[in-house]
Amino acid sequence: MKKPKFQKPLGMHDILPYEQKYFRKVYDAVQDIAEFYSFGKIDTPVLESAELFSKGIGLGTDIVQKEMYHLKTKGGDALALRPEGTAPIVRAYIEHGMINRPQPVKLYYYSPFFRHERPQAGRYRQFWQFGFEILGEENPIVDAQIIQIFYGLLMDLGLKNISIEINSIGDKECRPAYRRSLVRYLKSNAESLCANCKKRTKENPLRVLDCKEEKCRPVINGAPQMIDSLCPECKEHFKKVLEYLDEIELPYTLEPHLVRGLDYYTRTVFEFFSSEEVTENKKRLALGGGGRYDYLIRQLGGRDVTGIGGAFGVERIVQLIKKEGDLSSKRKKTKIFLAQLGDLAKRKSLRLAEEFRKTKILIDESFGKDSLKNQLARASRIGAEYTVIIGQKEALEDTAIIRNMKSGKQETVKFKEVVDKIKKLSKKR
Ligand SMILES: [Zn+2]
Ligand SMILES: [Zn+2]
Repeated sequence: MKKPKFQKPLGMHDILPYEQKYFRKVYDAVQDIAEFYSFGKIDTPVLESAELFSKGIGLGTDIVQKEMYHLKTKGGDALALRPEGTAPIVRAYIEHGMINRPQPVKLYYYSPFFRHERPQAGRYRQFWQFGFEILGEENPIVDAQIIQIFYGLLMDLGLKNISIEINSIGDKECRPAYRRSLVRYLKSNAESLCANCKKRTKENPLRVLDCKEEKCRPVINGAPQMIDSLCPECKEHFKKVLEYLDEIELPYTLEPHLVRGLDYYTRTVFEFFSSEEVTENKKRLALGGGGRYDYLIRQLGGRDVTGIGGAFGVERIVQLIKKEGDLSSKRKKTKIFLAQLGDLAKRKSLRLAEEFRKTKILIDESFGKDSLKNQLARASRIGAEYTVIIGQKEALEDTAIIRNMKSGKQETVKFKEVVDKIKKLSKKR
């Protein structure tokens, strides 16, 4: 067959009518789970100031150095086709004064992104990504929640064999000392590193831990681990995140060398993989990941507010759905608010949220908040029909209070019966 004169650009792809159902499926699942956890959708421009990314993601990263599409406008502006979603969202958060709204601000996006990478199976230069971001909340419970949301989403899509890797990369208190000891170690093993990593040792030593070259494996495996150098605050934060993940029984593994390729991450970082062999070289497929970015908002000109988020590649998920997913869909109705007081109650609420999600009952919460009054005010503002309250007393007694928000009537039920009780109540309406 003669080649047509015009073809799609290298590394880009068309989504044809008969493939749309798979993309639609992912889009619907993202929207459903976003609505369930009360995330608001945000669309930002495809083009942004190039400096937003060089400042945000970091000048020394592959994304900015090699993969970003730059363009100069006729007016002389240096713009870039967005390579990722977090920096633009932080830009919008600052620009639109979202700090003045009730915190945290929960946002999600579903958009095309651009990276000039070497084309290979499952990797495109224009690709779709969705992401969830929680801005303005420091509490480690939101770290666990973000991970839970992504996991739940992949389960909703019927995907199997999903694994989660997690690590803490510390903060400005403890990372510099770790960085120094890592550099010392790398320098003393320089002859066993690939050329790239020799360069990285100087410019961005943490990225050596990310190197995929076989040659570097033994050095990386013997490298000092960030987790041993965490300051007490980071250690405590990470411990809490893991406790929450244990509580909701997510299948994660600690990966002490997980660093992620962007400079803005602090503390918790995570990555999701599928062990399905869909790639040519039978390697496991990285689906997405994310982490905390506690200095990014400040760095981009905003106030000292923390954030956490993650992003997933749609094309890769579609690859898996075609193989093993299920195209049917489920919907839901009642709206419940989960209110909690105290650490044990927080953990129990997290577990409860997951059970409600499985039964497709809509919930909302402010897990980061401690005042019951504020939480109940939010419950009436969003028009919750019932609020499930777990106070310190209830958490200890393994019970919960169900409050009818219209009549103000309350009753105490056993913790494990809460979901059934709500199901019964919502049937009666
Ligand atoms: Zn290397
Ligand atoms: Zn620290």
